Amino acid sequence: MNTCDAVVLGAGAAGLMAASVAAQRGLRVTVLEKARKPGRKILMSGGGRCNFTNLQVEAEHFVCANPHFVKSALARYTPWHFIELVDRHAIPWHERDHGQLFCDDSAKDIVEMLLAECRAAGVELRTSCEVTDIRQVGDGFEVQTHSGSWQAGSVVVATGGLSIPSMGCDGIGYRLAESFGLPVLPRRAGLVPFRFSGDMQALTEQLSGNAVPVSAQADGPAFSEALLFTHRGLSGPSMLQVSNYWDLGDAVNVDLLPSDTLPERLLAAKAETPRAVVRTVVSQCLPRAVALALEARWWPEHAEKPLADWSDKALEALGWRFHNWQLKPSGTEGYRTAEVTLGGVDTAAISSQDMQCTSVPGLYFIGEVVDVTGWLGGYNFQWAWASGVAAGSALST
Ligand SMILES: Cc1cc2nc3c(=O)[nH]c(=O)nc-3n(C[C@H](O)[C@H](O)[C@H](O)COP(=O)(O)OP(=O)(O)OC[C@H]3O[C@@H](n4cnc5c(N)ncnc54)[C@H](O)[C@@H]3O)c2cc1C
Repeated sequence: MNTCDAVVLGAGAAGLMAASVAAQRGLRVTVLEKARKPGRKILMSGGGRCNFTNLQVEAEHFVCANPHFVKSALARYTPWHFIELVDRHAIPWHERDHGQLFCDDSAKDIVEMLLAECRAAGVELRTSCEVTDIRQVGDGFEVQTHSGSWQAGSVVVATGGLSIPSMGCDGIGYRLAESFGLPVLPRRAGLVPFRFSGDMQALTEQLSGNAVPVSAQADGPAFSEALLFTHRGLSGPSMLQVSNYWDLGDAVNVDLLPSDTLPERLLAAKAETPRAVVRTVVSQCLPRAVALALEARWWPEHAEKPLADWSDKALEALGWRFHNWQLKPSGTEGYRTAEVTLGGVDTAAISSQDMQCTSVPGLYFIGEVVDVTGWLGGYNFQWAWASGVAAGSALST
């Protein structure tokens, strides 16, 4: 039997952060990691450059049954705290659109930084060590793995979500929560591309590779970012963002021309170039392939009709269709390609101050396993860092 003050389950973003912070406070901390190497999701993040935080982090950037839950941890560990850490390790970084911060070189820099922090503080890291169960024993816990047991006063569950199952994410964190009687909210894939059926699927396949700046909305805020047509459906940042607010059966509303007013443009063209056709005007503001594909579906019998022969009302109605494109996805690509898992351990059972379960003192849940999901743009890592610091600062022996 191994003993230590605190055991952290999972050497991902949240787990490594919590472990280093707790060990810096003098605790003997062991991290148990199922994979052969730590930080695998960090390595694949941000296209290999890890979008490690965002300059604008507010509670509204997160989906959670209790929208206030994230406030305390995020206020106490801000993006600037993480930037200070990154700078201390001399990791070069840059800002992209929407305040997103990325490594200049590689996401490996972030994993190396977290491991260096852990090493300096004396954290013991065991890889290829799969946790199977936790039991309460006396004042503490016994953590069982395929390679031995650990006894500790505190346990931090940082086992992440269900996305990218090929990496072995099997949802152990949810099962552990349930074994302690904690509520776990239903889970589904988030930040994930949409799939379609029928003619819409044929359209996305035909237009695959085309990207358009749009404004898109499901049952939440509107996102003004790119939409990408793919062989399987619709992707791109706008669709990934919207997927966090979408449930099967919901519509997605797309404005294909958010910085234009097509009805006005069509009426002006009718006055100025009455012999032109609608396609010519639409092609001025959308890729020609998109204009042609929509023409074949929305006004095929009028494709060659000069603008002069259209009534103003019909032109306006057609123009508004571009601003109000109602889509009905048949589903999403699911966990196979999702960046995150929505839902998870109910925050009603956890203290927002330190991530400790109110009914099981000494047991903590942090990172993605909790019912907190950020927008695309570095928010999910900021939640991992902030919740990790909240727990790491509070753990006791
Ligand atoms: C392709 C992709 C790109 C992404 N890009 C970004 C981005 O650029 N910016 C951003 O903010 N977010 C991004 N995310 C989301 C981000 O990676 C996660 O939100 C974040 O990693 C969650 O951190 P975590 O520590 O909670 O979980 P994870 O990082 O998933 O870590 C959980 C760890 O627990 C381990 N584990 C699981 N089960 C067991 C077990 N039984 N025993 C022991 N260990 C176990 C896992 O192996 C893993 O190492 C991306 C996600 C994906 C999939």
